[in-house]
Amino acid sequence: MTTAPYIGRFAPTPSGHLHFGSLVAALASYLDARAVGGRWLLRMEDLDPPREEPGAQAAILKALQNYGFEWDGEMVRQSERHEAYDQVINRLLSQGLAYACTCSRKQLEPYQGIYPGLCRNAGHDTKDAAIRLRVPELAYHFNDRVQGPFRQHLGREVGDFVIRRRDGLYAYQLAVVLDDAWQGVTDIVRGADLLDSTPRQLYLQELLGLPHPRYLHVPLITQPDGHKLGKAYRSPALTADQATPLLLRALRALGQQPGPERVDASPRELLDWAIRHWDAGKIPRTLTLPEAQIR
Ligand code: GLU
Ligand code: ZN
Repeated sequence: MTTAPYIGRFAPTPSGHLHFGSLVAALASYLDARAVGGRWLLRMEDLDPPREEPGAQAAILKALQNYGFEWDGEMVRQSERHEAYDQVINRLLSQGLAYACTCSRKQLEPYQGIYPGLCRNAGHDTKDAAIRLRVPELAYHFNDRVQGPFRQHLGREVGDFVIRRRDGLYAYQLAVVLDDAWQGVTDIVRGADLLDSTPRQLYLQELLGLPHPRYLHVPLITQPDGHKLGKAYRSPALTADQATPLLLRALRALGQQPGPERVDASPRELLDWAIRHWDAGKIPRTLTLPEAQIR
């Protein structure tokens, strides 16, 4: 028996319930894995307890189950991985690749999100400070399976970025890279809002000697005002009674063409059909997709 080399994952943040946009991302990563006999893992990105919505973790699992998704192995929680994150941060600090930053939000306001390196050589104590990673004056690029070539100059477009916040919380950029490598993820399929995080993640992989996964960024589903769907824009939760119609709609958003006879299928039957017919080449090559445009 040969094991398929593909390992994919879905990595929701429990700051709210899943919505149609999350369904599109979950479905794409699930189908892309299962269509080649790959594994599909579930990871709860619960790095930020103050922003976690009570009950969201359970609601996410329930929604995935109601919509027919089955993941491999035990779900992993980032809240149980702090020791691993800490070890890497300490290593980066001792190698001089990361440093403590005491800049206030107010101080950084004029720089429009690109950290100007004020604390780079200040030698601040790490206590009560954010930890930033030094970035090289280099462009990082990769070829996204849907969005095509993407490049970003880390020095000019991002600047030294935070890997641990001043309040002690670990940053998404660090945790996602460590966990994807730790879980052996070969293929990252997620929303296009994370396209411009990818060069930072490529740099971290390079720095830590980790393999680069393949990337596929699906269009971000947007509201009429152009915003991402989410809690703030009152997108409805994925209720069990809507599973078949919403799965059909998510499939169409991904360019797949389930026939009209599928309206009576169960979620599981629909997913099985979609695995057999999955064609990532049909995903619209666009960063955003207004929800109203999807039939
Ligand atoms: N936790 C992130 C989110 O919910 C996704 C992280 C990823 O897929 O890399 O937006
Ligand atoms: Zn600083």
